[in-house]
Amino acid sequence: MKSFTYNALPARVIFGIDTLPSIAQEIKTLGCTKALVLTTPQQIAEGQQVLKLIGAELAAGIYTEATMHTPTDVTEKAVAFAQELNADCVVAIGGGSTTGLGKAIALRTGLKQIVVPTTYAGSEATPIIGETAGSVKKTQKTMKVLPNVILYDVKLTLTLPLRLTLTSGVNAVAHAVEALYTSDSNPIIDGLALQGITALVRALPQIMHSPLDSDALLSARSDALFGAWACGTCLGAVGMSLHHKICHTLGGTFNLPHADTHTVMLPHVMAYNGPYAKEAMEKIASALKAAGLVADSAAGGIWDMVKSLNGPTSLRELGMREEDLDKAAAIASQHPYPNPGPLDRDLLARLLLNAWNGTRPE
Ligand code: NAD
Repeated sequence: MKSFTYNALPARVIFGIDTLPSIAQEIKTLGCTKALVLTTPQQIAEGQQVLKLIGAELAAGIYTEATMHTPTDVTEKAVAFAQELNADCVVAIGGGSTTGLGKAIALRTGLKQIVVPTTYAGSEATPIIGETAGSVKKTQKTMKVLPNVILYDVKLTLTLPLRLTLTSGVNAVAHAVEALYTSDSNPIIDGLALQGITALVRALPQIMHSPLDSDALLSARSDALFGAWACGTCLGAVGMSLHHKICHTLGGTFNLPHADTHTVMLPHVMAYNGPYAKEAMEKIASALKAAGLVADSAAGGIWDMVKSLNGPTSLRELGMREEDLDKAAAIASQHPYPNPGPLDRDLLARLLLNAWNGTRPE
């Protein structure tokens, strides 16, 4: 066993089917009495469901303008609204964008947070926040943004569109993959990472192929959401590497969609890092095999799964311009995150070109 340092993060996690009605009790247990509910414009109905469950006794109001990459102008309006209502906590129901708004409010006000995740992004389990001002996205790690309670209700993921199910699931897998080869890896997080990868890689094809309203679908959704929690916990606990650096660059500077970008890039970065992270890749390949996915390499296995489920495989189809690849390589090689493979600008440019073309990585 190699030496390691492990910092456990405090977390209260409620996981199950039909858990949402316990939201009122969770607000009271936090010692709060006035919750501001947060959603995107697309999930107002879910926010209203929360308002109904907590009643006038615990509801301060609802703010429905959460949006991707946590723009600071949206946050400032939400903070002013929370203060006007005298809210003492936020309930963020939705994906990473809504969780991000809750974290941004907590960062500025110290309000407590309950997160009800409805995608597999994993932000709910991390002390990380990325915020955008103008076109610049800045990420920081601070315990001020770690949510107090995560309430997972599998039923809320039944409406997640299939494409986002796949891409958000691969976004989660990416956290676990990088946790396995990070410089600060540890055996607890390694175990969670492999559990998360196995659960998601097994569940995603089942979800895509299950008839709606079947027990099989609920069971697969349950496995996927568990996988998302396991992978999100990896993201919160250890440092990430080249894959996350490239995805932050492509999302922050070139405005590519978050989960799609992770889905296209992951197999390419795995192939790039593979020779320098052989043990991690062998473990990932075993996890894929345990989930029923057999391939010549871990990277090839992820690419095959995405391709077979009609997910995005090229940066070109996400709207990235070929002439911007060099600029992306230059940004991704500046202030790099520690990475097993070399961070040479020309090598990164070739990696990005492969991802832009959508060729299957070896
Ligand atoms: P998202 O939150 O932007 O959701 C995409 C869309 O799907 C939204 O319109 C949302 O309302 C809708 N949606 C979500 N769940 C749904 C459901 N169950 N049914 C129907 N519609 C649903 O997407 P995301 O990929 O979850 O989050 C991306 C954002 O999260 C990015 O800004 C990213 O930077 C951030 N993120 C942060 C961290 C972190 O640790 N700080 C981790 C992962 C992602």
